[in-house]
Amino acid sequence: MSVFEHPELAGHEQIVFCHDPGSGLRTIIAIHDTTLGPALGGVRMWPYRDERQALEDVLRLSRGMTYKAALAGLALGGGKAVILGDPRRDKTPAMMRAMGRCIDRLGGRYLGAEDSGTGVADLKLMALETAHVVGIQDKQAANGRRSGDPSPATAYGVRVGIQVAAARRLGRTGLAGLRVAIQGVGNVGLSLGRYLNEAGAALWVCDLHEEQLRRAVQELGAQAVAPEQIYDLAVDVLAPCALGAVINDDTLARLRARIVAGSANNQLAQPRHGRALAERGILYAPDYVINAGGLIDVANELTGHERARVLRQVEGIGDTLQQIFARAEAEGLATSDVADRLAEERLQAARARRHEAAAATAGGLGALG
Ligand code: NAD
Repeated sequence: MSVFEHPELAGHEQIVFCHDPGSGLRTIIAIHDTTLGPALGGVRMWPYRDERQALEDVLRLSRGMTYKAALAGLALGGGKAVILGDPRRDKTPAMMRAMGRCIDRLGGRYLGAEDSGTGVADLKLMALETAHVVGIQDKQAANGRRSGDPSPATAYGVRVGIQVAAARRLGRTGLAGLRVAIQGVGNVGLSLGRYLNEAGAALWVCDLHEEQLRRAVQELGAQAVAPEQIYDLAVDVLAPCALGAVINDDTLARLRARIVAGSANNQLAQPRHGRALAERGILYAPDYVINAGGLIDVANELTGHERARVLRQVEGIGDTLQQIFARAEAEGLATSDVADRLAEERLQAARARRHEAAAATAGGLGALG
């Protein structure tokens, strides 16, 4: 396997393979871009088929984090770490501490956070070995509850995004009566359901886990549907809050929603599916723009977490989306392509400022010499 020839390698600055024989840790940390600041991203633990699959995942996800941070207006770059193994079977405290030491060796260029297969308890173990992890502070979350969990902030951002999309696509001023189908009522999906229910939206939900589904139906007064049925519903909004690649050739033909706006990462199976949504008149709120609330929440730990500031920044997701929707319409582009361009433009502008500053410093030194 050639790392330098990998199709997902897209200007990544650094890729680090770490091994700790004592605990069995095998991890890959990818730092995609640190133009805007240290590379923040979750530590994912997953039973990858092989190294190739793990590498592909970490390269794709770390680039996504760069774009997410850039569009959320954060002074952060993008990175991600993957641990090869089954979190339920292979994870041990010794392994998590070894992960902390791997992160520490990068000297703060990478900041770890929780992701699939890791949680606050694991991060606290890593924090015994390094100062470079976030998402472990007990703080007042977007919903007023105290927790280190970023999901309520993510859900709040999605709620803001749905409102902006509904105004744009359907000319609605509020959420009352809006018909929303939520795919997956786990941490984010349930929290989103609470926000939407409070605002008077009508909800349809599905989940693979009976227990999650029952809780959502009882608490939100939502209507349960089978997982496969969710794409066929004639609703205003489909909110994917479970897994990626749900907008693909099969589902596109079935979609009757007029907006797709949810928390799941990598919702488009391929970039062309963003264009296909636009062609069908379905307004897509790009996933990494609308789901940045959790990142904003944990990023605020670095500067001292203030709930009011977090809420303000999460509400900024609405402004960014307005900008993306307007530009997509003006330039006849898909919203997903506009989001990528906007992120690239912000990074280019920051790189240009850096070069100018470096040139000015060099000029000053030359004058001294
Ligand atoms: P979670 O594991 O708590 O919830 C996901 C839920 O989806 C589970 O209840 C699961 O049973 C259900 N599910 C899985 N496959 C399904 C299917 N095919 N059909 C219906 N339901 C299905 O995860 P979460 O933290 O709520 O995150 C949800 C999504 O949002 C993920 O894609 C995650 O990467 C993304 N995300 C989460 C955050 C966050 O703050 N938690 C931030 C950004 C993005």
